[in-house]
Amino acid sequence: MYELLKDLRVPGPIPTAITRPFWTGVQENRFQLQFCNCCEKWVFYPRALCPHCWSDRLSWREASGIGRIKTFTVVHKPGHPAWTPMAPYALALIELKEGPTMLSLLVGVDPDQVMVGMPVKLHMTRVGELILPCFEPDRVPTGESHE
Ligand SMILES: [Zn+2]
Repeated sequence: MYELLKDLRVPGPIPTAITRPFWTGVQENRFQLQFCNCCEKWVFYPRALCPHCWSDRLSWREASGIGRIKTFTVVHKPGHPAWTPMAPYALALIELKEGPTMLSLLVGVDPDQVMVGMPVKLHMTRVGELILPCFEPDRVPTGESHE
């Protein structure tokens, strides 16, 4: 799977002034989310105003990259043909430990093995010329109860 991803030539993100810190961080292997300095909640996707309290006092902070699958779908016919060699693959909505939900590609797992509630962790993945923030099953015991 990882070898296949390395050879893909897919359209990348188009950073805006607001999203650029996120994408620049990812290319440098850093996973940063916005944090509201006013209400102290985490924010994703990147925005100009906090969706919880409308403050503009947002900063960037390193996030854990840990979460669990809220829901997922298995893609058989990709929306963009460049992803076709990868199909079928799983896309998931991941509830991050910090609170926000993020859509991402699941790697290192057979789509048939994916389950709602499955613990996952960030896996910065080379996709062609890009690094993308993908997730993989978190099989390493963390010592925390997930129940
Ligand atoms: Zn806020």
